[in-house]
Amino acid sequence: MCLLFHKVFILHHQLFTMSQSTFHLYDLKIEVINGEKPFVCSHQLGEAFEVRGENLYFKSEIPFSLYALAALLPLLTPKQRPLNHNDWMATDHIVACPDPNCGARFKISRIGKRMYERAATTIVPLPEQNDWTEKE
Ligand SMILES: [Zn+2]
Repeated sequence: MCLLFHKVFILHHQLFTMSQSTFHLYDLKIEVINGEKPFVCSHQLGEAFEVRGENLYFKSEIPFSLYALAALLPLLTPKQRPLNHNDWMATDHIVACPDPNCGARFKISRIGKRMYERAATTIVPLPEQNDWTEKE
Protein backbone atom coordinates (compact mmCIF):
# COMPACT_ATOMS: atom_id res chain seq x y z
CA MET A 1 0.00 0.00 0.00
CA CYS A 2 2.76 2.41 0.93
CA LEU A 3 4.71 1.51 -2.23
CA LEU A 4 1.64 2.20 -4.41
CA PHE A 5 1.21 5.60 -2.75
CA HIS A 6 4.89 6.33 -3.38
CA LYS A 7 4.60 5.38 -7.07
CA VAL A 8 1.49 7.56 -7.48
CA PHE A 9 3.30 10.42 -5.79
CA ILE A 10 6.28 10.07 -8.14
CA LEU A 11 4.02 9.88 -11.21
CA HIS A 12 2.13 12.99 -10.06
CA HIS A 13 5.42 14.80 -9.45
CA GLN A 14 6.72 13.83 -12.91
CA LEU A 15 3.52 15.03 -14.60
CA PHE A 16 3.61 18.29 -12.60
CA THR A 17 7.27 18.85 -13.45
CA MET A 18 6.59 18.09 -17.12
CA SER A 19 3.69 20.56 -17.25
CA GLN A 20 5.88 23.16 -15.55
CA SER A 21 8.63 22.83 -18.16
CA THR A 22 6.48 23.26 -21.25
CA PHE A 23 4.98 26.24 -23.01
CA HIS A 24 2.82 26.89 -26.03
CA LEU A 25 3.43 28.89 -29.16
CA TYR A 26 0.93 29.53 -31.92
CA ASP A 27 1.66 28.65 -35.54
CA LEU A 28 1.08 31.64 -37.82
CA LYS A 29 0.16 32.15 -41.44
CA ILE A 30 1.03 35.43 -43.15
CA GLU A 31 -0.70 36.04 -46.46
CA VAL A 32 -0.95 38.88 -48.95
CA ILE A 33 -4.38 40.47 -49.15
CA ASN A 34 -5.74 43.46 -51.07
CA GLY A 35 -5.61 46.95 -49.61
CA GLU A 36 -7.36 49.99 -51.03
CA LYS A 37 -4.68 50.79 -53.64
CA PRO A 38 -3.00 48.66 -56.33
CA PHE A 39 0.22 46.83 -55.50
CA VAL A 40 3.47 48.60 -56.40
CA CYS A 41 5.80 45.80 -55.31
CA SER A 42 5.89 42.31 -56.79
CA HIS A 43 3.34 40.89 -54.30
CA GLN A 44 0.87 38.33 -55.53
CA LEU A 45 -2.51 38.04 -53.92
CA GLY A 46 -2.58 34.93 -51.74
CA GLU A 47 1.19 34.42 -51.51
CA ALA A 48 1.96 33.31 -47.98
CA PHE A 49 4.34 31.75 -45.53
CA GLU A 50 3.95 30.06 -42.18
CA VAL A 51 5.76 30.35 -38.87
CA ARG A 52 6.12 27.24 -36.71
CA GLY A 53 8.28 27.64 -33.63
CA GLU A 54 11.46 29.38 -34.72
CA ASN A 55 11.13 28.46 -38.39
CA LEU A 56 9.63 30.12 -41.46
CA TYR A 57 8.03 27.91 -44.13
CA PHE A 58 7.65 29.26 -47.64
CA LYS A 59 5.89 27.49 -50.47
CA SER A 60 8.63 26.52 -52.86
CA GLU A 61 9.23 28.79 -55.84
CA ILE A 62 6.63 31.34 -54.70
CA PRO A 63 8.42 34.61 -53.92
CA PHE A 64 7.81 36.82 -50.90
CA SER A 65 9.06 40.41 -50.75
CA LEU A 66 12.22 40.87 -48.69
CA TYR A 67 11.11 44.38 -47.68
CA ALA A 68 7.71 43.15 -46.55
CA LEU A 69 9.33 40.29 -44.64
CA ALA A 70 11.65 42.77 -42.89
CA ALA A 71 8.63 44.83 -41.81
CA LEU A 72 6.72 41.76 -40.59
CA LEU A 73 9.48 40.00 -38.65
CA PRO A 74 9.28 42.11 -35.44
CA LEU A 75 5.55 41.31 -35.14
CA LEU A 76 5.76 37.55 -35.55
CA THR A 77 7.34 36.34 -32.32
CA PRO A 78 4.95 38.36 -30.11
CA LYS A 79 1.97 37.07 -32.09
CA GLN A 80 3.12 33.50 -31.49
CA ARG A 81 2.62 33.96 -27.73
CA PRO A 82 -0.46 34.22 -25.53
CA LEU A 83 -1.39 37.90 -25.27
CA ASN A 84 -3.13 40.12 -22.78
CA HIS A 85 -6.77 40.85 -23.69
CA ASN A 86 -6.06 44.61 -23.91
CA ASP A 87 -2.82 44.35 -25.86
CA TRP A 88 -3.05 45.89 -29.36
CA MET A 89 -0.98 42.96 -30.58
CA ALA A 90 -4.01 40.75 -29.86
CA THR A 91 -6.33 42.74 -32.16
CA ASP A 92 -4.32 44.31 -34.98
CA HIS A 93 -3.63 41.57 -37.50
CA ILE A 94 -3.43 43.46 -40.81
CA VAL A 95 -0.04 45.01 -41.62
CA ALA A 96 0.64 47.47 -44.45
CA CYS A 97 3.44 47.08 -46.95
CA PRO A 98 6.41 49.28 -45.95
CA ASP A 99 6.22 51.01 -49.37
CA PRO A 100 3.73 53.85 -48.65
CA ASN A 101 2.54 53.81 -52.28
CA CYS A 102 1.77 50.08 -52.29
CA GLY A 103 -1.71 48.82 -51.45
CA ALA A 104 -0.67 45.35 -50.32
CA ARG A 105 -1.63 44.24 -46.84
CA PHE A 106 -0.46 41.20 -44.92
CA LYS A 107 -2.90 39.27 -42.79
CA ILE A 108 -1.42 37.41 -39.81
CA SER A 109 -3.54 34.47 -38.61
CA ARG A 110 -3.08 31.87 -35.92
CA ILE A 111 -3.44 28.47 -37.53
CA GLY A 112 -2.35 26.11 -34.76
CA LYS A 113 -0.87 25.74 -31.32
CA ARG A 114 2.14 23.64 -30.36
CA MET A 115 3.66 22.67 -27.05
CA TYR A 116 7.41 23.03 -26.60
CA GLU A 117 9.74 21.64 -23.95
CA ARG A 118 11.68 24.43 -22.29
CA ALA A 119 14.85 22.30 -22.24
CA ALA A 120 14.67 21.92 -26.03
CA THR A 121 14.62 25.69 -26.54
CA THR A 122 17.12 27.13 -24.03
CA ILE A 123 19.90 26.24 -21.65
CA VAL A 124 19.13 29.18 -19.35
CA PRO A 125 17.93 27.83 -15.99
CA LEU A 126 14.40 28.73 -14.93
CA PRO A 127 14.57 31.31 -12.13
CA GLU A 128 12.45 30.96 -8.99
CA GLN A 129 10.94 34.40 -9.63
CA ASN A 130 10.58 36.03 -13.00
CA ASP A 131 9.18 39.54 -13.50
CA TRP A 132 8.97 38.95 -17.27
CA THR A 133 5.99 36.63 -16.91
CA GLU A 134 2.49 38.03 -16.61
CA LYS A 135 0.64 37.40 -13.34
CA GLU A 136 -2.81 35.83 -13.70
ZN1 LIG B 1 4.30 46.43 -51.41
